[in-house]
Formats: sequence, C-alpha cells, structure tokens
Amino acid sequence: MTDISVAALAPAVIDNIEAGVFIVDQAFNIVMWNAYLQKHSGRLEGELLSRNLFEAFPELPEKWLKKKLQSVLLLKNFAFTSWEQRPWLFRFSHNRPITGGIDCMRQNCVFTPLKHPDTGLVEYVSVTIFDVTDTAIYQQQLTEALAKLEESNVTDGLTGIYNRRHLQQRFQSEFGRIQRHGGTLTLILFDLDHFKRINDTYGHLAGDDVLKTVAQVIKSLVRTEDVAARYGGEEFAVLLPDTGLNGAMTLAERIRAQIAATPVTSGQSTIDVRASLGVAEYTSEMKNHEQLINSADQALYEAKHNGRNQVRAFTPTSST
Ligand code: GH3
Ligand code: MG
Ligand code: MG
Repeated sequence: MTDISVAALAPAVIDNIEAGVFIVDQAFNIVMWNAYLQKHSGRLEGELLSRNLFEAFPELPEKWLKKKLQSVLLLKNFAFTSWEQRPWLFRFSHNRPITGGIDCMRQNCVFTPLKHPDTGLVEYVSVTIFDVTDTAIYQQQLTEALAKLEESNVTDGLTGIYNRRHLQQRFQSEFGRIQRHGGTLTLILFDLDHFKRINDTYGHLAGDDVLKTVAQVIKSLVRTEDVAARYGGEEFAVLLPDTGLNGAMTLAERIRAQIAATPVTSGQSTIDVRASLGVAEYTSEMKNHEQLINSADQALYEAKHNGRNQVRAFTPTSST
C-alpha cells in the first residue's frame, strides 16, 4: 500500500472515532468537521466549511476559546481542558438518565497544533472533544455518597460519644413519641466549671484530654437507652427516655460526683474537674423539645449561680 492511499484513509478514521474532531485555520474558519460532531450538533460539514467558527456557533465562549486557539498557534504546543474547569465546549445531549443535574454531555478537549510537513508552520489547530459524562456522573455519585456519610455521622470527633446533631434527632423523635403515647422523658444538661481556667493553666490539649475523660465517665454511668452527647464545647447532655425527675437527679448526682472524683492526668499535670448540672422533665404543656432544653438550661444556670459543682432541677417557679 502506498503512502497516498494511507493518507486517503485518514478521513474515514476520523469519521469513525468516538470523539468530536474539528479543525480551524488562523482566522478560526472551519476546515474540517467530523461525523461525530455532525451527529451530535445536527450541523453538516458541508454547511460549515469555510465559515467562521464563532459566527456559526455564537453560543461558544468566544473570548476564552480564541485565547486558547491563539496560544496553541503561537506556542505550537498541545493544550488540554478538563470538564472540571469548563463542563462542555458544545452543549450536546447525552443518552444517560439525567442524574444530579448532569443534563448535558461533559467534555474534555485536546487542542493540537497542526504543523505543515514542509514548512513547519502552524496554520491550523485541531480540537478533539471527548465525552466524559460517565466520569462526571461517577464523581457526582461519589460526592453525594460522601455527603450522605457525613450526614449520617453520629459521633463527636474528639470524645467519641454522640454529637449534637444525633442528640437533636433522637430528641425530636422521643419528643414526638411522648406527645403521641405519653410517658416520661428527662434531660440532663451540663457544663464544666471554669473550663477556661483549665485551658489557660494546662493548655488546650490538656483541656481536650479533660473532655475525653468526662465523656468516658458519662458513658460508663448511663444505660444503653440513654443518649449521652457532647452538646457544645465543654457542654454535655444526657437524654433519658422512660425516666422521671427523681431517677434523672440520681444519675446527675452520680455523674457530678464521679467527674469530681476522677482527676485527669495530662502530661505531667493532674487536673481536678468539676461540673454543674441542670435537670428538667417533660411536661404536657411543652410544645417542642426546645422548651425542655430551655428548662434544663435554666436549672444549669442556677447551679452555676449557686456556686457550681452541683445539680439543680428545673422547677416552674425557677423560670420566673
Ligand atoms: P463556667 O464555670 O461559667 O462554665 O466557666 P467556663 O470557663 O467553663 O465558661 P465558658 O463557657 O465561658 O468557657 C468555656 C471554654 O471552653 C471556652 C473555650 O475556649 C473552651 N472550649 C470549648 N471547646 C473546647 C474544646 O474542644 N477543647 C478545649 N480544650 N477547650 C474548649
Ligand atoms: Mg460553657
Ligand atoms: Mg463551663
């Protein structure tokens, strides 16, 4: 087979590949438009030859694309664009079910300077467009899965006990249950005493060790049905389904005493820790779970106000 007949085969190859290929000259006039592009754009090569690319396709990002083509002509180097920076060059539909807002074909593009075999001058640029919609869909699914995983994360990173979001979720469902079926529900809310001083004296890492130890103390004292959570920085909460005020007070006092009896060793230091606790019980007048939190918070405030290192129960009169 001679060279000439091989060259004659090239257009057939270009028309059969699963990618869009077109060529423009220095004035951005179209000199080639392959079958893939004809199929996806609905525009025939015969209609486009010798036409200016930007006149034929006014929707193209002219400023950006001109700069790209010009730099390829000038520098005589390949250029590449990814769907992650620019999702598509031509807005083509794709044949996959539409998921996650990926409503048209995602494209990677390769810009190739075409050198004249004799002069070495670059007077043309070919642009190859690859359909990377599947990659984009997989990546979208991965991102969604990671977001869901994050959403379903129920533990606090530092202490390993439940986080505030999980407490809120459990709280809402317990509250709904008690409103429908009746029963008892109590909340213990507590806050470490003079924690700022602990941080200031022993350092933030020692403060973190204190939080971890306190979490372990709480965990060792609650039942499996109870929801013990880190509520905020140095605030913790225990939600007690099927437990009345007396039972909750007993547990709260046990937690207070155990925290006080468990000095925390961090590095060379031994740190005494104290906590103030507020306890509140559900009443039928409460419209939502926030009201129960507010009541426990009010009792906690009184425990602090009264000298700290103690447990206080919410009484309706204490809110006035
Ligand atoms: P009080 O007895 O009135 O509660 O005094 P306090 O110093 O504990 O009060 P406050 O709530 O003002 O201070 C809480 C401190 O807890 C402030 C903040 O720097 C610290 N803190 C919050 N989150 C963390 C944490 O994750 N690690 C550490 N080490 N410190 C934290
Ligand atoms: Mg606090
Ligand atoms: Mg505190």
